Amino acid sequence: MPDHKTYIVEHLDPELGPWSELEYVAIARETHRTGGTFCLSSLPPGFRVPASLAAEPAFRAETRGVEEMYPDLSSGEVKGEEEEKGEEGKGGQAKVNPKSRVCLLDPQAERDLSPEDKGVFGVFLFGGILGDDPPRDRTSELRKKGFAGRRLGPVQMTTDTAVRVTRMVVEEQFTLNKIPYLDFPDLKFNEHESTQMPFRYVEGPDGKPIMPEGMVDLIKKDADKSIDDLF
Ligand code: SAM
Repeated sequence: MPDHKTYIVEHLDPELGPWSELEYVAIARETHRTGGTFCLSSLPPGFRVPASLAAEPAFRAETRGVEEMYPDLSSGEVKGEEEEKGEEGKGGQAKVNPKSRVCLLDPQAERDLSPEDKGVFGVFLFGGILGDDPPRDRTSELRKKGFAGRRLGPVQMTTDTAVRVTRMVVEEQFTLNKIPYLDFPDLKFNEHESTQMPFRYVEGPDGKPIMPEGMVDLIKKDADKSIDDLF
């Protein structure tokens, strides 16, 4: 299995809001560092990709859905599928069923992702859904397409965290239990204001949750706005 992995977020929300934009820019930047590709799939035709994201070299916008990109050709002949020769494979892999190379990161999957999955999958698929509390299991929209699934442990992560953790497992060969996590961290804005994030994050070298650039400011702005709305 080639080392350069493809990370796909299937766009499932009606729009791409500022939270998602920051998350996707973070994913694209981290993907670029390891020479992979980050693809936002199933975009409606004419969709305007935010300039910050379009400027990222690892980023690719795709109107096709993941099923069309990696079809199930197990019952028929596999012929020169575009992705077979794409970012990952160069020759000699034409017999692989495209669908079998895709792993859906699924909070309800029976098996957890492990470093050995590096050799099994080349494409990692995530739901383009903002986290919700309690989780509404919108990943089920992708589960029903029948891709192999892996869980990243029992706690809901933000999408960029889920991609980060997947990368740590398959590219850096961490086992899930060796990754330093911060669950439901409190973000302190000042002496009086803080908010608790209902997600799991990776702990950064500074002891804080790793978050996309600009996210703390955005969360603070949203928190101020909800307080203003009360008056
Ligand atoms: N509440 C959401 C739902 O309805 O499924 C979870 C959305 S989560 C913010 C976005 C994506 O990150 C999910 O679709 C999944 O691909 C991935 N993800 C997040 N936490 C995960 C976990 N613990 N195990 C596997 N995948 C996870």
